[in-house]
Amino acid sequence: MIPAPFTYRRAASVDHAIELAAGAGEDAKFLAGGHSLMPLMKLRLAVPDTLVDIGRIGELSHISEHDGQVAIGAMTTHDEIARSGVLAASVPLLAQVAGRIGDPQVRHCGTIGGSLAHADPAADLPAVMLALDATLVARGPAGTREIGAADFFLGLFETVLAPAELLTEIRIPKPASAAWSFQKFSKRGIDWAIVGVAVQGGNVGLVNMGSTPLRASVTEQALASGASPEAAAAHAAEGTSPADDLNAPRAYREHLARVLVRRALDEAGTRA
Ligand code: FAD
Repeated sequence: MIPAPFTYRRAASVDHAIELAAGAGEDAKFLAGGHSLMPLMKLRLAVPDTLVDIGRIGELSHISEHDGQVAIGAMTTHDEIARSGVLAASVPLLAQVAGRIGDPQVRHCGTIGGSLAHADPAADLPAVMLALDATLVARGPAGTREIGAADFFLGLFETVLAPAELLTEIRIPKPASAAWSFQKFSKRGIDWAIVGVAVQGGNVGLVNMGSTPLRASVTEQALASGASPEAAAAHAAEGTSPADDLNAPRAYREHLARVLVRRALDEAGTRA
């Protein structure tokens, strides 16, 4: 339960963070809220030789809206997102999901950038980013690039981010549709989802139905063809590959996906 020794560096700016991480080599890691990284380090499942603390970089904490899109700094905490008036008005799906992550301690420390970069398929925000068609902005030694959420997640705890590449901002187009819903099935309120569903308009994101967050694309196609919520939800598990583990067998997760997508589509329909 004690992490292996590491070097701690505190970054004063985005450029400084990239410089420190690039100088430390491939075994450096950024430290955001620490709520995923520190437990892994204590279990020695992560053994970085350098931690670059990005927690005091003010330019990474912000929420603003302009030109039809909402921009959120990567170090913005779940609690700040849950309490944001801008998000409550423009992207209520995101505000509601953030307010249900973990418990108050997790929400005050955990960050949107940390959650996305960690790429846990059981995390809520990655699937929400898919449903919202978000763009992720990353800056590294090779410059700045914009990555569509659909292209960001490669596999279990794996993203397209290169070593020393820092996620700086998340950009969300203001949804055209008022129809949204988030449904999450977990054993206790603070737990990760056994299965979760995020609906925004005709987009349906799935939590924990594969090694990456997924879109329920067959359901989306059925909706686009005019199928009822009930008929579209019946396809929710198609094209998924959920885990079969101690929390739930695969068939149960597939069943949950169908039930939760139906509930989400019904609730979204009441808001449209
Ligand atoms: P850290 O732990 O600091 O970092 C995580 C990883 O991302 C590290 O590899 C780090 O190097 C990298 N990283 C961090 N920021 C950046 C960046 N800007 N650019 C590039 N790489 C970066 N999550 C849910 O979705 N739903 C839940 O219900 C939920 N429940 C939880 C309950 C508990 C008890 C705990 C401890 C956590 C829970 N979480 C849950 C996870 C929580 O949301 C974490 O805060 C989040 O996964 C990681 O965010 P962080 O800021 O703590 O990142």
